[in-house]
Amino acid sequence: MPRRIDLHTHSTASDGTTPPGDLVVAARAAGLDVVALTDHDTTAGVAAAAAALPAGLTLLPGAEISCFSAGPGGTRISLHLLAYLFDRAEPDFRAARQKVRAHRVTRAERMIERLAADGHAVTWERVTQLAGGTIGRPHVAQALVEQGLVPTVADAFTRDWIGHGGHYYVPKLELDVFAAIPLVRRAGGVPVFAHPKAVRRGPVVGDDVIAAMARCGLAGLEVDHPDHDSPTRAHLRGLAADLGLVVTGSSDFHGGNKPVGLGAETTAEAALESILAQAAGAVPVRPAS
Ligand code: AMP
Ligand code: ZN
Ligand code: FE
Ligand code: FE
Repeated sequence: MPRRIDLHTHSTASDGTTPPGDLVVAARAAGLDVVALTDHDTTAGVAAAAAALPAGLTLLPGAEISCFSAGPGGTRISLHLLAYLFDRAEPDFRAARQKVRAHRVTRAERMIERLAADGHAVTWERVTQLAGGTIGRPHVAQALVEQGLVPTVADAFTRDWIGHGGHYYVPKLELDVFAAIPLVRRAGGVPVFAHPKAVRRGPVVGDDVIAAMARCGLAGLEVDHPDHDSPTRAHLRGLAADLGLVVTGSSDFHGGNKPVGLGAETTAEAALESILAQAAGAVPVRPAS
């Protein structure tokens, strides 16, 4: 039987609602054989996930890095770069993750200030209680739900609230993806473009940018993602073939913050083998037996 492989999940170390130790147990219960933990801009959950690893499950340590691609006229498109099996202690990439996380704190404070200025009772105290690690908009969204200002977390991601370009939206510091890809490679990691055409989240880059990312050292495209419809997947599969990129599939599990379950999308064995063959910074974690 082929192994079931999910290469993109979030725990309470960023904006998921499941603690990393519970996430690996839930992953095995969901029938997965391999799971990657890819919290936003951090590997803080990896140790707890590794310590709780159930029999039969392999853990790929990773992270999802907040990046941008610069366009004409100073425009910027936000994008997410998954990085697998890098050396977590490598100083340059480590410092970059720290810088992005530190700015996220300032940026969350600004969003809360703007909300408070309009009389919306969201407090910094509550939002930091909700954030157990990398702070993000989902934590602000949870506070908005608690205050009855929006019915669900997803409803906060609109122009009226903190959706892209929204009234209370504040951009975060992001890494230039053409600097981030070599940064990941130099740390021995394998960079994969997360949900490259998730238009629901905001503007996405064109195929020309993806081709340039491939020339810069990108390893793969996350084609099978809940935010891609089937024509988009077919297009991306063709593009990956043209550019010699690995095709991955993943749930982008966030626990209760999103309705998608662990293993809802999966990666083929051959794609995982290719990622493992390119990795030089860390090895997959297997249970203590
Ligand atoms: P941030 O990184 O703080 O800008 O927050 C972005 C994160 O919010 C994404 O990585 C998703 O995890 C989450 N997110 C984005 N759009 C939505 C949505 N429509 N519903 C729920 N969560 C979302
Ligand atoms: Zn997230
Ligand atoms: Fe993402
Ligand atoms: Fe994600």
